[in-house]
Amino acid sequence: MSLPDPFSSPEFPTQPLLLGPDQYAKTSQAVDKPRFRLLCVVAHPDDECFAFGGALALAADAGVETSVICFTDGQAATNRGTAASSEDLGRMRREEFVASCKVLGVTHHELLDYQDAQLEFAGFSQAAAKLVERIRRFKPDVVLTFGGDGSMNTHPDHTMVSAFTTAAYHWAASPKRFKDLGPIHVTQRLYYVTTSFFFPDRPAPLPAPWTVTLDIRAVRKRKFDAFRAHTSQVPLMAKFESFFEKHGDAEHYTLAASPTPQPATQTTGLSAGL
Ligand SMILES: [Zn+2]
Repeated sequence: MSLPDPFSSPEFPTQPLLLGPDQYAKTSQAVDKPRFRLLCVVAHPDDECFAFGGALALAADAGVETSVICFTDGQAATNRGTAASSEDLGRMRREEFVASCKVLGVTHHELLDYQDAQLEFAGFSQAAAKLVERIRRFKPDVVLTFGGDGSMNTHPDHTMVSAFTTAAYHWAASPKRFKDLGPIHVTQRLYYVTTSFFFPDRPAPLPAPWTVTLDIRAVRKRKFDAFRAHTSQVPLMAKFESFFEKHGDAEHYTLAASPTPQPATQTTGLSAGL
C-alpha cells in the first residue's frame, strides 16, 4: 500500500486513490509518521515563487517541512526598483526572498553568496558540495530544481543550478563522494520543473516532457502574493500576468531520478508512490 500523497491534486482523474492535504495530516498524526521533507534549489530570489510557488505552498498546507536554497541575491536583475547600486538591489532582494518564503509557508530558507549571472563560472565541485552537505543534513524525501533547459527564460544560472543539484542529489547518496560531509542520504525523488507553454517573442527553452501535473488552483493566489512580495520585480509580473492568467492553474514537473527503476508514468503529485 502506498502512502497518501501530500501534493496530490484530486481534481485530476488519473490517480483516484491519492488523498488530499487534510487527509494526509490526519493520517500522518495517526501513525506518527516522520515529517515529509521537500528541498527546493533555485538561482535567484523570485524563482521560488515564479517556478515552484505552487508546489511549495501545497507542501506547506500538507504539513511538509520545506527548505529553499537560493544561490544568488539577484543583483544583476533588469528590474532594479529603487536600488541605488547592485549591492543595494542585492540587499533588497534578500529581504524580498524572505518575505516571499513567508507567504509560501517555507520552513527554512537560505540565500548563498554566489554572484548573480556568473554561476557558469563558479567552481562546480565546490557548489555541488554545498548542496551535498545540506541534503545529508536536511534529509529530504523530494528535491525540486530547474531542468537543464534553464527554465522559461533559458537563464544560464538556472541551467547551472540544475547541474549542481543533479550532481548533489546523486553524490549525497554515494559513500564514495564527500566522505567528510556526513552520512549518506538517499533522496527518493528528484524533479525538474518544466513547462507546457512558451512566452512569445522570447527565446524558447528546450523543455523536458512532464511526468507530473500539479493542480495548484488551491494555492494559486498565494503563489502570486509571493511574487508581489518581490517589490523590485513587479514590472516583470505585469509583463507576464496575462500568460499566468491563462496557464497558472498547474505546474509541471519531470521525474528525473529515484532509487527504483520504473517506467515514466503520469502522476498528479510529487510524492506519488512514496
Ligand atoms: Zn531565476
